Amino acid sequence: MKFDLTHSRKSIATAALFAFGVLCGTFANAQLLDGCPSKEILARFEEFGRTGRMLPDLGRWLVDPKAQIMEPYKAFDNVYYVGVCWVSSWIIKTSDGAILIDTLHEPFVDQLIENIKRVGVEPKDIKYVLMTHGHFDHVGGAYKLKSLTNAQFVMTQTGWDEGIRSSKESESTPRAWRMIAADRVVKDGDVISLGDQVIRIYETPGHTYGTASFSFGVKDGSKKHRAITVGGLGLNAVEGSRQVESYIASVRRIEQLMASSTDPIEVHLTTHPFSNGLTEAKELLKTRKVGDPHPLVDPEGLRRQLEQLRSRAEERLAIERKAGR
Ligand SMILES: [Zn+2]
Repeated sequence: MKFDLTHSRKSIATAALFAFGVLCGTFANAQLLDGCPSKEILARFEEFGRTGRMLPDLGRWLVDPKAQIMEPYKAFDNVYYVGVCWVSSWIIKTSDGAILIDTLHEPFVDQLIENIKRVGVEPKDIKYVLMTHGHFDHVGGAYKLKSLTNAQFVMTQTGWDEGIRSSKESESTPRAWRMIAADRVVKDGDVISLGDQVIRIYETPGHTYGTASFSFGVKDGSKKHRAITVGGLGLNAVEGSRQVESYIASVRRIEQLMASSTDPIEVHLTTHPFSNGLTEAKELLKTRKVGDPHPLVDPEGLRRQLEQLRSRAEERLAIERKAGR
């Protein structure tokens, strides 16, 4: 996801001006979103994706550190949520250190570091930082984490290129952000092994061309499940029909991974918690009793989400083709 920077310079200028207006209080009278309600937030992002215009209350909410605080929580015995309200970051504990998925962005990186410590992980024990794609909300915290961890920072080559280019383009805007130099490059089919965990890398272009998804094992008592973090969900950075075609192919690919007879994906640990109602579903963990099903093991929910993503992408493909893009 990205809300204020796109690949086109005209869009960058417009979006940056908008963000600047938000920061300067141009929309001081706008209504603030209250809490992190998934449906309301998703509806606003969908409107942004359709029109390119961000509603003022969404713009303010996105940059408000207080509104964005989310308590870190244990999603599975080996996986913790350490992100903020609008964008996720996940810590996977292994028998030989930890793996972080995505790095948030300023002004939330200190919050991320605090959350990581609160779930019992010292930043220096993070061995890998996996990043889904090169948008600032997923890689913007890498520069600060780099000096605190001994981690390899991992992304596809196209993801690195996107992040480095996007950071460079942000330099002339009020929302400049720093990117690290390319570190470990992965490609489709690679695995990252650490202790008792094996993470599979899938290139799933569409949201951006460099987007990757990560699949890994999660533990719930004596039960084990396979989870996925789908790297990109929105169509807000689309440049034309070729990209939307790749998006649709990536959604189909994940649907196929779900249909595996040996190790099907049953859990979606999303990059944006409002995208699949994770914010509300995780509340059920608090009242879960012994023997109750795990609220985040929801293959039907993931199937429905993938269907929705695909049908929206098909609508978008028709628009892009009609416009000759
Ligand atoms: Zn993005």
